[in-house]
Amino acid sequence: MAFNTAPLIDRLDLTTLASGRHAFRFGALQMATGQDWQIPVLVFKGARPGPRVVITAGTHGDELNGVLAAQQLGRELDAEALSGTLVLLPGVNLPGMLERHRDFVPSDPDCSTANLNRLFPGKADGDSAQRYLHRIWNGLLAGNADYALDLHTQTRGASYPLFVFADFRNPTALAMARWLGADCIQDDPGDPGVLETVWNQLGVPCVTLEVGSGSAMAPELIQRAVSGIHRVLAQLKVGPAVPEVALPVPFEGNATATVRAQYGGLAIPQVRLGEAVAEGDLVAVQYDPFGAERQRYHAPVAGRVLSLNDDPLREPGSLLVRLLYRR
Ligand SMILES: [Zn+2]
Repeated sequence: MAFNTAPLIDRLDLTTLASGRHAFRFGALQMATGQDWQIPVLVFKGARPGPRVVITAGTHGDELNGVLAAQQLGRELDAEALSGTLVLLPGVNLPGMLERHRDFVPSDPDCSTANLNRLFPGKADGDSAQRYLHRIWNGLLAGNADYALDLHTQTRGASYPLFVFADFRNPTALAMARWLGADCIQDDPGDPGVLETVWNQLGVPCVTLEVGSGSAMAPELIQRAVSGIHRVLAQLKVGPAVPEVALPVPFEGNATATVRAQYGGLAIPQVRLGEAVAEGDLVAVQYDPFGAERQRYHAPVAGRVLSLNDDPLREPGSLLVRLLYRR
């Protein structure tokens, strides 16, 4: 079914749906022109009853590896083979996607751009970003999940490996994080307004899966993310069994140390993602406008390389290298 002919819904009610695959458009909010932002919604309702899983992607508009992973998952899923229901929102932040921007980009000149993943569950009488989220939360998400996964990437200009944020106090979230087969997992209690945190506080175990960097396709990481989600669905007894494969042993940490640029200038990382570094190891070199060496940066702690700049232009305060470690 073409997107433009999919039924336009105002609210997703899973109980009234027949088993099978359903595609909808959800009117999230009106634009300043009076037309709707229409969010794509896929529902895979299994032939047998079981838990409900909600997977979101593109809450940050330029984090397209998550969107690509969600779309690929949607192409691969067979509703008949499921026990339970999977709701897939492969592109949450449409204004951000259009503008190639991480944030929600309002049309109102009086509003700044907004990081949607600090504003959940939105606000009915707030600004456009808060209203947009309030509509999505109440029309699509709330009450429709027993488990949830939110797909992201590192902010554009820097990259992550396959990496999971999980609140280790929640044993189900921790198990989900380990089933994903990621390179790194960070024990993180969450922050107010983050979708993962809101789900966890409501008793819906959720993790955030980071797939590479913003706007830059990473086919291998996307494939690993999709395989990992199939594995999570199998472990939750929602999806069919998946073949046993040898997974990387993830590095699990509960603290990060970020090396930030002290000066402006192009900077080149001296380490690779996932690499183990010792305290004091050289991690980045920055150059002045003539190309002469300006500053060498060293690891403040021992840990694993969790993130690197892949955009060489760095201003003072910009991320160069982030290390994940155990405190
Ligand atoms: Zn993100």
